[in-house]
Amino acid sequence: MMGLYRTLRSFNQGYMLTVMWLLITAMVIAIFFMFVHPFGTILLFWLGLIVLGLAYLAGKLSIVMQRRMARRNLTAGRCPACGGTVAHAARGDVQWACPKCDLDFLPTGAESPREGEPA
Ligand SMILES: [Zn+2]
Repeated sequence: MMGLYRTLRSFNQGYMLTVMWLLITAMVIAIFFMFVHPFGTILLFWLGLIVLGLAYLAGKLSIVMQRRMARRNLTAGRCPACGGTVAHAARGDVQWACPKCDLDFLPTGAESPREGEPA
């Protein structure tokens, strides 16, 4: 259960960058095809648009799953990341705080970005 949350979490953290590099690679291939086989470029363009749309939906779904899993654990008083006991916090938007792994959670189940850390 905790392992699944951690897997989802690291997946969501690296997902956007992976999709970006995948599409940049496709673009480079498309540029190459432009001189060799113009139809390949058109095909890759539309394929890229479809992949971008699907990747966006898959990313959203993955985030929804991560937050749902986090909420289920947090309402049971458990930290979804380390399994430690979470404490209720009333700091701004933060509703739960884990003293063990130092993560803050919003009521949505999203992790709150730490101060000094990029959001
Ligand atoms: Zn924790």
